[in-house]
Order: sequence, then structure tokens, then C-alpha cells
Amino acid sequence: MKKLSILGSTGSIGTSALRIVEAFPRKYRVVALAAGKNIDLLCSQIERFRPKVVAVSDEDGFRQLRQVLRGRKTPKILFGSEGVCEAAAFPEADIVLSAIVGSAGLMPTRAAVRAGKIVALANKEALVTAGDIVMKEARTYGATILPVDSEHSALFQCMHGWKRESVRRLILTASGGPFRGMKRKQLRTVAPADALCHPNWSMGRKITIDSATLMNKGLEVIEAYHLFGMPLDQIGVLIHPQSIVHSIVEYCDGSYLAQMSRPDMRGPIALALAYPERLPEAVEPLRMDQIASLTFEQPDLKNFPCLDLAYQALQTGGTMPAAMNAANETAVHAFLEHRIRFTDIPKIIARVMSAHAVMPAQAIGAIVEADLWARAISQEAIRA
Ligand code: MG
Repeated sequence: MKKLSILGSTGSIGTSALRIVEAFPRKYRVVALAAGKNIDLLCSQIERFRPKVVAVSDEDGFRQLRQVLRGRKTPKILFGSEGVCEAAAFPEADIVLSAIVGSAGLMPTRAAVRAGKIVALANKEALVTAGDIVMKEARTYGATILPVDSEHSALFQCMHGWKRESVRRLILTASGGPFRGMKRKQLRTVAPADALCHPNWSMGRKITIDSATLMNKGLEVIEAYHLFGMPLDQIGVLIHPQSIVHSIVEYCDGSYLAQMSRPDMRGPIALALAYPERLPEAVEPLRMDQIASLTFEQPDLKNFPCLDLAYQALQTGGTMPAAMNAANETAVHAFLEHRIRFTDIPKIIARVMSAHAVMPAQAIGAIVEADLWARAISQEAIRA
């Protein structure tokens, strides 16, 4: 029986993970849950899974939850960043699923790493903003990081057992999102509702917009750089509109290993929760005879400049990826609120990056500071 702490339990990844727990009641027990503002859903999860500890992001949620659960001894209710970190480091948990969206996931991920947990990592921003620190601490505290991002899960599976020196290149695949093939002129007028219609994947709102701008792939390149310790020039991206091949490892002997499955996040979640086992029927099997074709093409960096911005940020290093990420989060939020155009997202990120005075990213304080600075500057750019 594996005991789980699920951070971000009411989000897309969290709810999918709980469906897996429900399907395998003899394998998993939920001991801790952490969520943001969806208190109603969290309450029904508490009823269903009976965790020992629950954390919510703010005090309003805490009061609401305490009211609903009054008179009960369990679960213990916590709130704020410290509360979420306590749920992340909850001593009884064997596996921590880190699925809080955005840079808010950094501190809880770090708490789980420092508690030496098996961390099923769905939050990519922890590695994007503080990859050096998180990976170093994982070694120091004996934590294991298992990727939940579908591309990194694919790479992890394709690299299994082979010497790292034999790997020539990692190729991350990208669906291209709903606007693949569109030019900047057309992209100027797309609405949030258009961007939220992803052709293949069902995901949260923020990551779906990132997928449409290609920033999601940029964040994933940085994530792969830290997770697999590969040099930047050995990480490439190909657009693969069918989303069947989830990534590819090129070996020095000319062999390519790819992982295929239906585009369903339950696959990589189940793999991280069950590793080194595999859960039966985690995802519906592929009908290979019904796949007409698998195609690959180069990404269009001219009309989708976010991918290039991410490469530049990683090349610059230090606090630049954290600043870039914060600018992206702020810009995506503004786009979802109809305050800026889709094509303003890369412009705002580029402006913040060119104004950023890069600091070394060896201390978490510098990263938090760069994040806050970039949010303030992007807000100014959005208002202008
Ligand atoms: Mg992904």
C-alpha cells in the first residue's frame, strides 16, 4: 500500500490521480490533500478519501473548510504556503504528487524533496525557476523525482537502463496547439475561448494557453535540461500534431526510442505512482491500425516566438528563467481576462527579459525576488 500526498488535488492532474486511486483501492491510500480555492470539490474529496491532513492556499478557504468540518478530529486543516508545505512533507506519505499550477508549486515541491519523498512531479515551474537548487537538494536529501509531464515521462521511459553518454539528443514532441499553421496577423485576433480548445489534450486553463503559444514546450525544454542533465544544444523540439509519440530519445548508434500512447494524462500519472510497476488499463490501448499517419515538422518560431524566448532564458541562466516564467504567468492571466491580445504574450515576456538584471540562481531568495520583480514589471507592461 503506497500512501499519497496530492498537492493540487482539485486541478486537472489532481482529479485524474484520484480517479487512479479509486480504481486501485488496494494499492493506494490518500493521506494528505492540498488545494486552492475549489473548497466544494475539496470537501467531496475529503469525504471520499478521508485524508489525515488537508491544506488550502488561503485563510478564507481555511475558515470555510473548518466550518464544514466542525466537530471532526480529522483531517487536520492547514492553510497558506506553510500549510501546503507541511502537507508536502507529511511524514506518513511515501509519494507526493506535486500538481500545483505555476511558480506557487515551487516551495511545496521543495518541501517534499527536502523530506526525501518520491516526488511525482507535474509542476514544471519548480524546475524551470529553481532547477539547480531542486535537483541538488534531491541528491542531498535522497528524494526521487519521477516526471509526470507526458514528454518527460516518455523520455524517462526511453532512457531507462541505457548509459547517459549513449544519448545524443532528446526530442520533445509538441502538438502545436489549436493555432498551428496560423500567422501572426490571424493570431492577433484569437480569443481565450479559441485558445482553450486544445485539439488533443484535456488540461488546465493556464497550460492550455501555454500550449497554444508554445511556451509550454519552452518550459519543458528547461525542465528536461534539469531533470536529465542534458546540455541545451542536445534538446530539440518537433511538432507532432497527432500527440501519439510523446517524445523521442536519439542514441549515438542511430537508434531512436519513442514512447507512444493515447494522449491521456492518466498514463504518465499512473506510471509515476506505480513505478517500477505499471498499472493495468491505466489508459485505453492504442488501435495502431486506426492511426492513419504520424507526422513531424519543425516548430514555427517566427509566429510562435515563446519557444525561442525559453531557449534564450535558459542560455542566459541564473534568475532569467524565473523572470521569464513569472512574466508568462502574468501575461497568460491577463490574456484569459481579455486584457491583452494573444500576440502580446511574447511581447511582454521579451520586454521583461530584456529589462531583467540577472542574478545567480544559487539561493531561493534571488529566485523569489526575480519572480516578484518580473510580475510587477509585466503588470506595468500590461497596463501600458
Ligand atoms: Mg507536457
